[in-house]
Amino acid sequence: MIVMKFGGTSVANAEAIKRTIEIIRSRLDKKPIVVVSALSKVTDALYKISDSAKYGEQTMAIEIIDKLRVRHAELVDELLGGCACKDEALKALNIEFDELQKLVEAVIVLGELTPRIKARIISKGELLSSIVIGHALTKSGIATCRLDARRFIVTNDEYLQARPIIAEIESHTPAEIESAFNSGCKAVITQGFIGATSAGETSVLGRGGSDYSASLIGMAVSASAIEIWTDVDGVKTADPRRVANTQSISRISFEEAAEMAHFGAKVLHPLTIEPAVMKNIPVYVLNSLNQENSGTEIVNYDDVEDGVKSISFKEEIVLMNIFSPHMINISGFLMKVFDIFAKNKVSVDLISTSEANISLTIDNAGSLDAVCASLSEIAEVRVLNDKSQLSIIGKNVVKQRSLISWAVTSLKNTNVYMISQAASSDNISFVIDRNRLDEVLQEFHNYLFEYKSL
Ligand code: ADP
Ligand code: ASP
Ligand code: MG
Repeated sequence: MIVMKFGGTSVANAEAIKRTIEIIRSRLDKKPIVVVSALSKVTDALYKISDSAKYGEQTMAIEIIDKLRVRHAELVDELLGGCACKDEALKALNIEFDELQKLVEAVIVLGELTPRIKARIISKGELLSSIVIGHALTKSGIATCRLDARRFIVTNDEYLQARPIIAEIESHTPAEIESAFNSGCKAVITQGFIGATSAGETSVLGRGGSDYSASLIGMAVSASAIEIWTDVDGVKTADPRRVANTQSISRISFEEAAEMAHFGAKVLHPLTIEPAVMKNIPVYVLNSLNQENSGTEIVNYDDVEDGVKSISFKEEIVLMNIFSPHMINISGFLMKVFDIFAKNKVSVDLISTSEANISLTIDNAGSLDAVCASLSEIAEVRVLNDKSQLSIIGKNVVKQRSLISWAVTSLKNTNVYMISQAASSDNISFVIDRNRLDEVLQEFHNYLFEYKSL
């Protein structure tokens, strides 16, 4: 069995879905489990719907729902015209839309949007796309079984950033998938991004979570490969939307890919690699718009060469400086500081400490007020906004001494608030002003990947 995950752009419209169907057809001998995202931009629209409902903007919420209804119905017309299955697909879509509308109405009446209800709203994108694509696959001659991912992607009850319960997923998934194939289906389709708690409540794995779903399913069925089909030629030397002349990377290790994703590269959900590593399943990142391209193969650490592979960035981070003379010669101070972060569920990325200072970066600035209030009881706290983090990633990059000296020299016109290279041998990170990010990114990329290859 293989898992094939198709992101939003690979299923954006009828043309993209037809292309996707042909890619799946080329893999039928491998028993494909197809994991789909919502149609491009649909999840964004669902977030907007839930926010509109929360703020009582009923007209806005209903308007967006109507647009989504029309978009899905048009797609059904284009893909399923002349098929008896069309009515069945429309009926299934209507059930989802009617429920969506009821949820929105309930939020408006109550004036409250709980994470549990929000998860149900934003999970609709994948439920809708899998209905349309599942029917389109069957109509194209590929008998396809549609499975509800909530039957086997079991998670904890952090509804919007749910963590999978691996043992449960491993125990439920194989039987569900096998019985679908045994019933005569040539392909199985299921939803990315969504799961359910043990109590059966819908949850989601966080933005971009369909990659993670694919990898969890691959792990559970011991797939021979996990293919992540997207809209670029595999993993690249930097985000092609922000940096000119990026190149595709043909091979990268699980560790490097995880580091890239964790440090900001949007191409893969940061947790995608973990389940694949557990079963040593190769992951391929491929371009559904350019099937001929061999994309990127993600393999074991020992099978890749040393050297810089990519530059990642996080555009909007917060830098926090914590000063306390109590740090000097007193044990346990760091523990108190991190206990405050843990209690407030704020995760820290980079840390550096000196005698009386701790500097650290935080990706998600959501609930910093509570953290600052508690920290202020034991230290002086300064929060610096408008900072970006840029990371050079590659196996053993920290051993390349010339690299760090070049980087520091080239940053002579840029304020550097933190340099971190100790945490992993595969990553050197710099914290700089956000307004310098684009220029520094391009300069680093030119030096690391262009001038060097001349
Ligand atoms: P999908 O909908 O297929 O999951 P995403 O938008 O989540 O697609 O991820 C693919 C996008 O990630 C690409 O279009 C690209 O702009 C962006 N991206 C960011 N960093 C990288 C990188 N290092 N290599 C490739 N793509 C990257
Ligand atoms: N549709 C979800 C999102 O946009 C999940 C995904 O596409 O991976 O975040
Ligand atoms: Mg994605």
